[in-house]
Order: sequence, then structure tokens, then C-alpha cells
Amino acid sequence: MIDNHQRNINYLRISVTDRCNLRCVYCMPPEGVKHTPHWEILSLEEFGRIVDAASDLGIKKVRITGGEPLIRKNILDLFEHISANPKIDDISITTNGVLFADMAKDLKNAGLTRVNFSLDSLSPDNFKDITRLGKFDAVWKGIEKAIELELHPVKLNVVAVRGVNDREFGDFVRLSRELPLHVRFIELMPIGECNPWAVGNFISAEEIMQQLQEEFGTFDIETKVTGNGPAKYYRLPGAKGTIGFITQ
Ligand code: SF4
Repeated sequence: MIDNHQRNINYLRISVTDRCNLRCVYCMPPEGVKHTPHWEILSLEEFGRIVDAASDLGIKKVRITGGEPLIRKNILDLFEHISANPKIDDISITTNGVLFADMAKDLKNAGLTRVNFSLDSLSPDNFKDITRLGKFDAVWKGIEKAIELELHPVKLNVVAVRGVNDREFGDFVRLSRELPLHVRFIELMPIGECNPWAVGNFISAEEIMQQLQEEFGTFDIETKVTGNGPAKYYRLPGAKGTIGFITQ
């Protein structure tokens, strides 16, 4: 499908729910947000029909997102439907990982090809503070499972927040050296005027890279990480994984 700017569009993102089992401080208030009524949300069958129609127009890659997509009831049915479509060759998910370990095998059998985890901290205490409800160990189990099942490339999305996780950036780089994980530092988005996290806590990708170069020296530029996003990737010499940046 060619858009008005002559770009070839072959990638579709589907948000299957606005609900989430976490309450990240930069995303939601502690009590959560008012949910869209059930009857205003498309059914899984309707999402399936949209993917089929989009595939006829040239869509080949589909990403399932939320909220947290794995809390959507019967979500495996949607994966099965999409993977049965021969025009779709890539089905990925963005998840907070809380439920992933237990569902990983079924997701892979239903057609999942790769996974992005949202993970802002490698410290269980800090992770709990950021997500309010999250248990780091459960998410880590999910990440290990994704590597074991070879759902490559396994990506970690890290929203960079000054004073919250900026002291951990080096730990993420060390992780990319040891494991085949692709860490993407994401600049904080100023979502909504009431989001105090957007004011004063922003760190630019440039500043993060500078901080990392001071600690690790030069990174190699990496061009082989599969994906559809705008990330630029780098690799420490000899590292199993990479780091990347997603800018606003
Ligand atoms: S896991 Fe994602 S959707 Fe859920 S609260 Fe955190 S940032 Fe928001």
C-alpha cells in the first residue's frame, strides 16, 4: 500500500484493549483510567476481519498492543486467525510481560514471531515503584522464556526518565552484552498536560548516548535488527544484543 508520500506501508498496529494490569507512573493514575465501554471496543473477530482486509492492501506485518494485550480474553484466537492468513508473515506483540511466561508457548503456537517487552528498570524495587503493581521476577521469567523459544529479536523498551532509571542505563547495556536482547531507550513523551513526568524528567537520546559512551567507549552501528520502528541501533563490540534509541 503506497501512501500520499509514496511510502510503502506494510505494517499494522492493533491496540486490542485500553486496559492494563500495571499503573506506570508516567502513564496512568494509581486508580487507573476510565475504560472505554465494552460495546465500543472491536471484537476479536472484527480485528481479524480488519487484518484480512489490510492484508489485501499489502499489509504483511502486524503488531498486537494495548494497554496490555495479554489481558484481553481469548487473545490467542486473534493470533491464530492472523497466522492463518498467508499474506501476513510477521506477528509481534508489545507487552509488559507480566503474563507472558505462562502464555509464551501458546502464543508461539498461535503464530507469534517476536516480542517487545516494556521494561523500565532492572531493579525489582525500582520496577515496583515505577509500575506500582509490577513484579519484576514475573516479567524477567517472560523475557527468559522469549529467548528460550527464540522469539527473536526480543526487544526491551525502556522509557528513559531522569531521576527514575537514568542510573540504570549502563546496566541495560551490560545486559545487551550478555544476552541476545535489543534494548531501546525511548524518549519520554509529553502525554497530556497533566503529566508531570514530562516536565523536567526528559532525557534526550543524545544525552543518553553521551553518558553511555563515557562509560563504555565506542559502539558499532548495527543495521541488522528486524523491526518497523524508527530506532537506530548500536552494538558493543562482541555483544550478543544491541542498544537503540527511539526519539520523539
Ligand atoms: S505497562 Fe504500558 S500500558 Fe500498562 S501502565 Fe505501564 S506504560 Fe501504561
